[in-house]
This record gives sequence, C-alpha cells and structure tokens, in this order.
Amino acid sequence: MEPPKLLAAGSGGTDVDISTQRLTVGPWSTRVASLRSLATGEFSALIVVRKGVNLFLRGFDHGASVEVELWSGEPDVSDGLGVVIENYDLAGVARIPVCTCGERGCGNSGVQLAAQMPAGDVPRLVGVLRQLPDLEPLKQRQVEPRPDTWDGTFADSEPRP
Ligand SMILES: [Zn+2]
Repeated sequence: MEPPKLLAAGSGGTDVDISTQRLTVGPWSTRVASLRSLATGEFSALIVVRKGVNLFLRGFDHGASVEVELWSGEPDVSDGLGVVIENYDLAGVARIPVCTCGERGCGNSGVQLAAQMPAGDVPRLVGVLRQLPDLEPLKQRQVEPRPDTWDGTFADSEPRP
C-alpha cells in the first residue's frame, strides 16, 4: 500500500466506482471491502485499514465532506473504536465495550471516532490509523468518565488531538 498523499484539507472530493469497488480521493485510491449506493443518493464504503480496524464512510460522491466512523468489524454490530489521546498525542486505537445499559450507541457516543470531515483528509486519516497501535479495550469504568479521544481533525497535515 502506498503512503497517503498529502492533500490540502477539503480539496478533491471522493470518486467512487461501484464496479471496481474502489474509492478515490485525489491521487489516492484504495479498494474497499464494501461499496454501496444508498437510497439517499449517498454512497457507503468500508475501508479495512488493518485487521480489526475498519473505517466506515458515508457521503455524496464528489462531495467535499464525508461522514466517517471507526469500527472493529461491521458498522453498528461490532464494537466501536476510539483513538485515545494521552499526553497530548494519539496513543492508539481502543475498542469501546457495549454500555452496561445495552445500547452500543450510548457507549460509543463521544468516544468513538465518528465525525464529518473533509474528503481530502481521508487518505491522511487512513495513514494515521494504519500506524497507530492497538490498546487494551476500554473498561466500562473508562467509558464513564470518558477518556479523551481524537475527533479526526487535522491541522497543518498533522493530527490535532
Ligand atoms: Zn448506556
């Protein structure tokens, strides 16, 4: 896999090709695990960043921004993943256990990497996630109080914790 090309934030929308299952953003292109057209006119795609780290994307093709969510497997049915911040830096990727109330979205809320971001940042995000180590799954007690986690924003091409 080639290293992510650096694009100016927000430049270059997505270009999806259902027939080849490829997602392209500017000069960067990747084959995705699934690529679907949604009834809303949007597309959804699942990028396998590495084993157990899947990036779900949803947006309008050629749109300037996409919605991203980080999951350990299939969206909504697997554990969500958060990028934990320690010492003002990205420490790694941690699984978020289902909340004791039974609602996955409850535990994920505010902890999972789930954001609307410039499409031009997607290659950079995939590159960062590929390099981050896996951390121990968050304990229930760590869900409340919630750990500091990254929201996927970049500043000057660097992750902004
Ligand atoms: Zn809950």
